[in-house]
Amino acid sequence: MDSGQSSSDKTSEPVSNVVRDREATPVGPRIAERIAHLGTETAFAVSAEAAAFGAQGNRVYPFHLGDLNIPTPDNVVEASFKAIRDGKTGYCPNAGIPELRAALAADVSASHGISYSAENVAIEPGGKPVIGKFMLALMNPGDEVLYPNPGYPIYESQIEFNGGVAVPYGYFEGEHGFVIDLEALEAAVTPRTRLLVLNNLQNPMGAECSPQELEHLAEFVLRHDLTVLCDEAYFDIRYSGSSASLASLPGLSERSVILYTFSKKFAMTGWRLGAAIGPKQIIDVIAKLNVNDESCSNHFIQYGAVEGLTGDQSGPRKIISILHERRDAAAGILNETPGIRCYTPEVTFYLFPNVTAAMARKGITDVEDFRRAVLHETGVSVCSRVHFGRPQPGETEQYVRLAYSGIDTPQIVEGLGRLKAYLTGGEE
Ligand code: PLP
Repeated sequence: MDSGQSSSDKTSEPVSNVVRDREATPVGPRIAERIAHLGTETAFAVSAEAAAFGAQGNRVYPFHLGDLNIPTPDNVVEASFKAIRDGKTGYCPNAGIPELRAALAADVSASHGISYSAENVAIEPGGKPVIGKFMLALMNPGDEVLYPNPGYPIYESQIEFNGGVAVPYGYFEGEHGFVIDLEALEAAVTPRTRLLVLNNLQNPMGAECSPQELEHLAEFVLRHDLTVLCDEAYFDIRYSGSSASLASLPGLSERSVILYTFSKKFAMTGWRLGAAIGPKQIIDVIAKLNVNDESCSNHFIQYGAVEGLTGDQSGPRKIISILHERRDAAAGILNETPGIRCYTPEVTFYLFPNVTAAMARKGITDVEDFRRAVLHETGVSVCSRVHFGRPQPGETEQYVRLAYSGIDTPQIVEGLGRLKAYLTGGEE
């Protein structure tokens, strides 16, 4: 039915809309609605706060960002320079150079007891892009995805941005470290649950699954017919024992994608190099996403990575020994500090102390207020629990996260000594 408007009225309508929209958004372009679902890493905001505090002439002890202040091993650097000189500066295959795909397949096959070949590996510009590409490849709108919370904030962001439903699962304090709440995980499953994100050797908590937990998770995944993102960014960052993967358990490699990164083991965060490793069908989809996204990962650094995997291993060993010394220094002081209770994980470069009693000593109830007070009173800059996902109903304990990857041992001792003195000061 005709609305009674003349055609000239109709054509005038959009014009008035444009005027109205201009009024509503006086400055700048109209941003797509989907961006409202995109999260971020708020740890970067903590960096900015710490930098602003430092710029006022204050001493800052940077425990907030999981970056490394340790150089990349020389042999990796030299091999990359050589590749530049050899002209490896054009595009390369979108799933990575065959040499690196093969070397990584051999490396991960050996560490995981799984038989991967080059076709199971897609090289990526970092480990982080694997998260979004995993969701794009395997998640339909409305699918539910179980993800760790507290956890790396990009899971929640990429699930929701790509139209999925992010369903958190939590951890509790066990005898030697944080333990996945398997009962809550089971209770969170619905007929729409399709995917599980598991970050064994976990950021921010330094949690590591026991063999029993892994077996329980494997049974859970098979029973609910899930596909798993095994985020193993810290698989090689360990000080004793050996790492285990959910993907290694019977029936799991067929339904798991491993997130691999060169960032931590080889101190290459800024180089941007990682990989997705898993069933060929999924890897082919991820490679197609590469074509549409970055075309290929940086060509010449892939030769550096081949050297990293197959050449002299003294570089990664040195990185571990530096981190080990820092961990002992940091955990030692934290556990002597009034109001703080802290595990000493054998993995990752994070500590996640319980600061509930420390906050009570200072009469502070909000963990972000506590974080800011610590920064301003001591210069120690940390992240708090809220930077690792939306806090869940019923949480009573309060935590902060310290990364010791970007601060030398003498500064760790000095900074945490100040923190200890501040908290020894007691109630205010
Ligand atoms: N996964 C976890 C749990 C991380 O902590 C990080 C980085 O901090 C990444 C993935 C991604 O690291 P990158 O993109 O540097 O490989």
